[in-house]
Amino acid sequence: MKEIPIRTAASCADDSEPRILGVEDARRRLLEAVQPLAARERVALRDALGRVLARPVVSTLQVPAHTNSAMDGYALRFDDLDPTSRTPLEAVGTALAGRPWPGRLEAGQCIRITTGAPLPAGADTVVMQEQTLEQGGKVIVGPGQRRGGNVRLAGEDLQLGEEALAAGRRLTPADLGMLASLGIGEVTVVRRPRVSFLPTGDELKGIGEPLGEGEIYDSNRYSLHGMLSREGVELRDLGVVADTPEAVRSALLEASEGSDLVITTGGVSVGEADYIKEVLESLGRMEFWKIAMKPGRPLTFGRIGNARFFGLPGNPVAVMVTFYQFVVPVLRHLAGERDHRPLHLRARLGERIRKRPGRTEFLRGVLSFDEGGEAVVRRTGAQGSGILRSMSLANCFILLDEKQGTLDEGAMVPVQPFEGLI
Ligand code: AMP
Ligand code: MG
Repeated sequence: MKEIPIRTAASCADDSEPRILGVEDARRRLLEAVQPLAARERVALRDALGRVLARPVVSTLQVPAHTNSAMDGYALRFDDLDPTSRTPLEAVGTALAGRPWPGRLEAGQCIRITTGAPLPAGADTVVMQEQTLEQGGKVIVGPGQRRGGNVRLAGEDLQLGEEALAAGRRLTPADLGMLASLGIGEVTVVRRPRVSFLPTGDELKGIGEPLGEGEIYDSNRYSLHGMLSREGVELRDLGVVADTPEAVRSALLEASEGSDLVITTGGVSVGEADYIKEVLESLGRMEFWKIAMKPGRPLTFGRIGNARFFGLPGNPVAVMVTFYQFVVPVLRHLAGERDHRPLHLRARLGERIRKRPGRTEFLRGVLSFDEGGEAVVRRTGAQGSGILRSMSLANCFILLDEKQGTLDEGAMVPVQPFEGLI
């Protein structure tokens, strides 16, 4: 009897198979395909947190505006001090923050000064209260002072005309404070990306519905809601879509209307009802990729009308991994953010990890510090792509690249902390 060949693995040479791409390659292609949003808006300072600056902010002031004291103490003329012994000075006034002393210091004089109060003319140094003594109506200053000590120079934070914040920056609380210190109450930011999302799958039920045989609750809808909310996008939840070509088609058309990005989960793996592929291809330009990664192998990327389209895998962990590795960079790029590379650290493996070369693995790990202060990482138990607990318990991804094979306990590995990423 003639043996029928069975294909065991897809190859790039095989035209009917999706293209196999490395993680970096895929990310690069995605970023090349997406242009930052051109639309911008003015927002009040308080509403600007987490928004991306569309234009640089140039300082219209000097910050601080006046040379002032960094301490409570006495403002004086350094050249009046005896470097080797105590110097008595005459206190002739007081300068408070917001209430400068209007005079000029003459030889042998000092004034009391509080933190933030402008330095009077003639003074160049502040000596801390604690390093002085009041005696016989004089202020006695000890030796060993430094010229210019405890003085904040006008403009040392920001010079007039200096770029305070660059375009493409996602504003942090510190940035809001800095903008306020310049007297800026409104900034121009890039419009938030508008993202619609819809899980697909006949087995999916919503919370509150009874589960029939073989049915599961839709969890992707909620993890996506969480991830997208954290990204600060305008989101539209279109709910689960029935597994029929008509339903998927009309839901996708609706989703693309007015969206910058449409995200689906499920239905892109090989063996899924093939119609999704057909529906997608009938709606716009699509690329079907197999990414050399685990979890999250199948990925579809394309465009429907004016919206970009991501077809993420269905498995809940794969959804989250592909979201952080591909959707986040695209969203941040769309949002106008520049320089949005995530933080990578190195940590010692607290256990042996078996791996075969060929795919980048994104293991879910717990990063901690041992008694010696060294970073150690371990997996969060079972790593199946359906086991959401592996994500929930984790505080980092352990990144094992394509070429990497089995690693022994104690090996150094790159990790991507969730802090800042998720
Ligand atoms: P698929 O990519 O559609 O073949 O789905 C892969 C696996 O993920 C299957 O076990 C699905 O039941 C599961 N899955 C797909 N979508 C969801 C969802 N929204 N919530 C939970 N599990 C899902
Ligand atoms: Mg499915």
